[in-house]
Amino acid sequence: MHWEKYPHKKIKQTVFDALKKNLDYRTEDVLGLPATYLDPEVFYQDAPFLKDAPYMQTMVANPNHIGCHTLGDAEPAFLGTQAIEKELIGICATQIFSAKEQNYDGYVASGGTEANIESLWVHRNLYMREYGAQAHEIAVVYSADTHYSIPKGVNLLQLQSVLLPVEDDTREIDFDAMRARMHKAQSDGLKYFILIMNMSTTMFGSVDNVEQAMEIMEGLPCEYRIHVDGAYGGFIYPFTRTNESLTFKNPKINSFSIDAHKLVQSPYGTGICLLRKGLIEYALTDEAEYVKGKDYTLVGSRSGANAIAVWMILRTYGSEGWKAKILKLIDRTDRLCENLDERGIRYFRNPAMNIVAIRAEDIPETIAHEYLLVPDTHESKPNWLKIVVMEHVTQGKIDKFLFALDGWKQ
Ligand SMILES: *Cc1c(COP(=O)(O)O)cnc(C)c1O
Repeated sequence: MHWEKYPHKKIKQTVFDALKKNLDYRTEDVLGLPATYLDPEVFYQDAPFLKDAPYMQTMVANPNHIGCHTLGDAEPAFLGTQAIEKELIGICATQIFSAKEQNYDGYVASGGTEANIESLWVHRNLYMREYGAQAHEIAVVYSADTHYSIPKGVNLLQLQSVLLPVEDDTREIDFDAMRARMHKAQSDGLKYFILIMNMSTTMFGSVDNVEQAMEIMEGLPCEYRIHVDGAYGGFIYPFTRTNESLTFKNPKINSFSIDAHKLVQSPYGTGICLLRKGLIEYALTDEAEYVKGKDYTLVGSRSGANAIAVWMILRTYGSEGWKAKILKLIDRTDRLCENLDERGIRYFRNPAMNIVAIRAEDIPETIAHEYLLVPDTHESKPNWLKIVVMEHVTQGKIDKFLFALDGWKQ
């Protein structure tokens, strides 16, 4: 895994050069495109700080990245910044998830939700077009700890679902139950499956065991493909573990969702959808005739500044710097866990991740409230309360939380 770290000067130059390649509404005779820079009364172009702020400058120029730019043909007005998005998608696909060069497509979606739904949509259409499948014969298979965007997509796309229970202590899929439920699904007439593998669940940081899940699927006379939901862990797990079966090297994996607006601290609107080459065509809306290059995405118009922001972050760190940043969070999480162990407080934690889900019974409600621990449910009494060790969760804040626990225990 490698991508180069750029100094600020080079980042700035690359973005400003890209903006120059985009269409300039101030100087060109643009009559037809229903797009322009941000309102100049409010967002004035000559604000002095913009000279040194490539992201802000891109916001003001307001390029529209509508469509998918890894495919070639795209809206020519914004080719400069689209090329940066293309580079960003390339880094994620090839360096983080081991895709072969040119063997992927993808785009910066509005979030993990959209990236997940786009992938379900692609798979549904693939089964329908290539196998003559009916929607009621297609099921999405996912664990009980899966993010709610998956059932949201199942509902929108009118698919069936096979829900897999997890073991309470380990958060692992219960594979005996999976075997039984898959047999039942087959006898109920389901023939085509989209298996969701979490590259970390949101609540626990648990990573699904893809080998074991595949072993069960391989034993069945059915079609299945895998989508990996890395919306939470996509920028963490690949930097803490080497697991080729959760990359594009696994031929059953067709797609990944990753979110830059969680751990990467980029602006909201930066989910990333990655697909194996030849698949995004199944989401083509042929009727998008006014868009050059048509539209293969769910969202339609989207801000090019979002792609610039993520690219700038990845280039500022480089792969080595990114890994170091993640390992620092992991170390801090290790230390928190040791402190919990000393106090006999029970929790679940995947050592590759920065989430600690604590047994709710072991933490008084007042402290959970005060430190904004996130419960597994807001509807009834929670079973788990989680801490997500991010940049703002400093050692000082963790210490304060631990002192508060000690005060309560005495
Ligand atoms: C957050 C999250 C999502 C949804 O992401 P949004 O960006 O909020 O749409 C999907 N899957 C997982 C695992 C997540 O953690």
